[in-house]
Amino acid sequence: MPPITKPIYLDNHSTTPVDNRVLDAMLPFFTVKFGNASSRSHRYGWEAEIPIENARNKIAGIIGASSKEILFTSGATESNNLALKGVAESYLKKGNHIITATTEHKSIIETLRKLGRKGFDITFLPTRKDGILDPDDLKRAITERTILVSIMFANNEIGSINPIKEIGDLCKRKGLLFHTDATQAIGKVFVNVNEYNIDLLSGSAHKIYGPKGVGFLYVRSKNPKVMISAQINGGGQERGCRSGTLNVPGIVGCGKALEIASKEFKSDFWHYLKLRNELYDKIFSHLDGVLLNGPKIEKIDDLRKQNSAIEASKCLKRLPNNLHLSFNGVKSRNFIEAMGDVAVSSGSACESTLIEPSHVLKALNLDDELIHSSIRFGIGRMNTNEEIDFVANKVLFTVNNLRAIRQR
Ligand SMILES: *Cc1c(COP(=O)(O)O)cnc(C)c1O
Repeated sequence: MPPITKPIYLDNHSTTPVDNRVLDAMLPFFTVKFGNASSRSHRYGWEAEIPIENARNKIAGIIGASSKEILFTSGATESNNLALKGVAESYLKKGNHIITATTEHKSIIETLRKLGRKGFDITFLPTRKDGILDPDDLKRAITERTILVSIMFANNEIGSINPIKEIGDLCKRKGLLFHTDATQAIGKVFVNVNEYNIDLLSGSAHKIYGPKGVGFLYVRSKNPKVMISAQINGGGQERGCRSGTLNVPGIVGCGKALEIASKEFKSDFWHYLKLRNELYDKIFSHLDGVLLNGPKIEKIDDLRKQNSAIEASKCLKRLPNNLHLSFNGVKSRNFIEAMGDVAVSSGSACESTLIEPSHVLKALNLDDELIHSSIRFGIGRMNTNEEIDFVANKVLFTVNNLRAIRQR
């Protein structure tokens, strides 16, 4: 086994390293081509504007949108805020009811709680035990006053993938706007705003090997034309919906990251599955008292029967790179400490400094014991077979060791 010289990174749901090809694409825009994309009077401005529009085109093409439907933001948190607050303000005359789920990211939950305090009526739907929303529950929650449904594409903790096509079709039939936070789904499963009847979609660069602090919001421009009110006012950039000097290197990096994720979808897809399933198989074949949180692990042989990686990804109920386990009798805190040179997390990163357990696991009614012994493994493009082998062995050793100490 090659020597392990640094902590092995298996926390790819919280962020990912920047791909070298992304960094190379970004670098000129910090120094030589440093212009403001809004400057129309000289070459520095044009040299910044053209790559922005190229990135916009590329991203739009990849998700089935047109370029004027893409707004650049500072990340998925801002995209989610803009989508929810922007729609809520613009459609107030039509209704004040918004439907979401209890397992959403905090940037959805907290934004909607705030709208709730301002007089909006928010329904937080529970999901099934595996974290997947039942579209029948959604159908029952719709009222005359409902304007918007916001359901995440894939969950950042337990990797569950929602029936986005069914939800999109239902919203379309009922004349409701449908927003989805696709931050974890992009690059892992097929995402297309037309095939799935999505009206608004949030994405972030740093979850797909791009830079932190940049993301985008897709806003449908016809059938229907979606209106959103600006949440950041100023110079009128991004069609007046999101003012502020554009983050040129970041946006170039976001475009490049998405382009690579799209071109290399097939190899990434099978890579994630192979490593994730190896880790799962090894742990389950050697340890008792392990519980899988979230949907079941799909078998590669079954998925290979599909015509392509894209088709296979449409069958998934769980992100190909996600593994979320609870080890009986082992506290997550002790496990993480004992794993030392392996970077994993318990709950979501945003909450890991808090004592409070993850709101997603709580929403699934997992008992406290299991929540406090849960660990999330997130496989990334840069992980290798050797690393997964090392991690699997280390998990076996660590769990056996911690359980033995507890016996004494
Ligand atoms: C990471 C994440 C976000 C937040 O994205 P930022 O770009 O870091 O603001 C939102 N939703 C989901 C599902 C995420 O995984």
